[in-house]
Formats: sequence, structure tokens, C-alpha cells
Amino acid sequence: MAATVETLLREQLQERRQKLESAETVVPGDERVRRLLREVDAAPKRMDEESFGLCEECHETIEAERLVGDPLLRYCLDHLSAAQQHALEDDLDLAARVLQGLLPPPTLRFPGYEVARHYEGAGPISGDYCDVLDARDGSIYFVLGDVSGKGVAASMLMAHLHATFRALVPLNLPLDQLIGRASRLFCESALPSHFATLVCGRAFPTGEIEVTNAGHVPALIRRGGDIVRIESSGLPIGMFCDERFSVRRLRLSPEDSILLYTDGVSESRDPAGEEYGIDRLARLMSGSQSLAPERLLAACLRDLTAFRAGAPKADDLALMAVRRID
Ligand SMILES: [Zn+2]
Repeated sequence: MAATVETLLREQLQERRQKLESAETVVPGDERVRRLLREVDAAPKRMDEESFGLCEECHETIEAERLVGDPLLRYCLDHLSAAQQHALEDDLDLAARVLQGLLPPPTLRFPGYEVARHYEGAGPISGDYCDVLDARDGSIYFVLGDVSGKGVAASMLMAHLHATFRALVPLNLPLDQLIGRASRLFCESALPSHFATLVCGRAFPTGEIEVTNAGHVPALIRRGGDIVRIESSGLPIGMFCDERFSVRRLRLSPEDSILLYTDGVSESRDPAGEEYGIDRLARLMSGSQSLAPERLLAACLRDLTAFRAGAPKADDLALMAVRRID
């Protein structure tokens, strides 16, 4: 197998391993997490077979991105028939449009809150998840997450997660139970190696908010000039069928904002390989005056583009900002 593909697949496994390791610090000694770790550790051995990842026609390496999406592919793109290639392109194009249709509008306004989101895939489709739901009792739910893996498989799971939350929100469950049920449904229908990190919040017109962070990068809340981080307090959802989640409660004053983002933002790298980081995002948020959500996102994206200085985008990115208004 070519070194580049091997590196990519091994990186994927490494990333999965890191997420499991950080899960292990939340529930130390959990035998189920250890078992998943052992499975991830055994995977590279399967990649040592000689013909793995080679096109059966030309014996060249199959495109790395496709192989990462499906390690069992048998033909490179050049050796798909023209009809197969067109069908594949059409499928991807359609999938991208279906996913776009699942996104909330770029900006939204509710009693007491305004919301904006930004969403872009590293490829034609993304595994990031982003939604805003009106609970029809005056409160709103906002959720931003990241399904493990990339490409078509991740985007299908993202669509599944989207439907799950849309179905659960009208039940008006307490937030921890809502996430618990979503996690169980995701666990029951996804492969054991698939899970999603996410932050889900509920905001009431009084300024009260509830937030759960399930294995995701910290949500940043700007209250006055201070930044509060809502760190992960549990495992990603869908890892096990019986997970429990905790809820943090806060009160927002008018002009206070919440910023959610995926690790595609915080782990972006500059040409020297330096990571963008959460601290820089927090500084940017505290340094600026209270900005309308779409302006806050624009400021984040400008800073990220300047930091990256032309370095290629490696991951999907999604951001969401929610600001309390009078
Ligand atoms: Zn080929």
C-alpha cells in the first residue's frame, strides 16, 4: 500500500485513538472504552496485506480520500467506467444538495436571540452537524457537532443525527434526557466505531440557558468582557447505548454571546504546522465588542484565513453564534 494512503488511514485511526483516550479520562477504567481502544490498535495489522488499497486494473493506489471513506474499494477513479464515474459525480452532487437542505438558514431571529451559522466541507460533503430548532414554547435549541470520520459515511450519519434531534425536540424532554435518547438512537443505528461529539443548548427568552457538551471542543460564552468555557463533561454521543449527560445552567444578559465551532476550526494549521487553537478564538471573542452573530462569525473566519496563510483546509468546518438581544 502506498505510503500516503497508509499515512492517512493511520492518521484516521490515530485521531480515533486520541478521542477514545480523552474519553477514558472522563470515565477512567471503563472496560468498554478500553475494548474500543484495543480494536483501534488492532486495525493497522489488517492494513499490512500486500494488495490492500490497489486498483485491480492498473495496480496503482486507489485515491486516498475514497479509500479512507471505504477501505474496501477495488478500482481507482481512472478505472471506473465513464458511466460509473458520472453516476458517482451525480450522486455526490445530489448528496451535497440534500445536506445543504438540512442546514438552518445562515441567520435566524427568535424572541430574545439572534443566531448565525457558517458551514463548509473540506470536500463536497461534510460530516459536521448544525441545527437550530424552535421548541414552540418560546425556547430554542441550538446544536453543533462533528460525526467521527469523513466523507459520505460521516454525512449520512450527520443526516441521521439531524432527523433524530428534529424528532426528539417536540417531546419537550429535559436536555440531559434529550441527549441521552439521541445518543442511544445513534448508538443503535451506527457502526460501533462511529460516534459524534456535540454541544447542544437550550435558550429561554428570560436569558436562562442550558448547555450540554458531549465530548466536543469547549463552547465559548462571552458574558460582558469575560469568556466562560463550557468544557466537555461526558463522552461523545453514540459511543455506548446507556450514556448519561450533564447540563450546565447559566444566565445571559443582552449582548452576551455563545460561540460553537468544530475542531476543523480550532485545529486548523498555518504553513509551519502550528495549530490555531481555542485560546486564540477566545481572545478574538473577548477582544471585540459584542458583535451580531454573523459579524462575529465573519471576524472568526477572517482571523482563521489570515492565520492559515494559504495552508490547505484539512477538515470540515462549522461555526455557530447565538447572541441574546433585548
Ligand atoms: Zn486503476
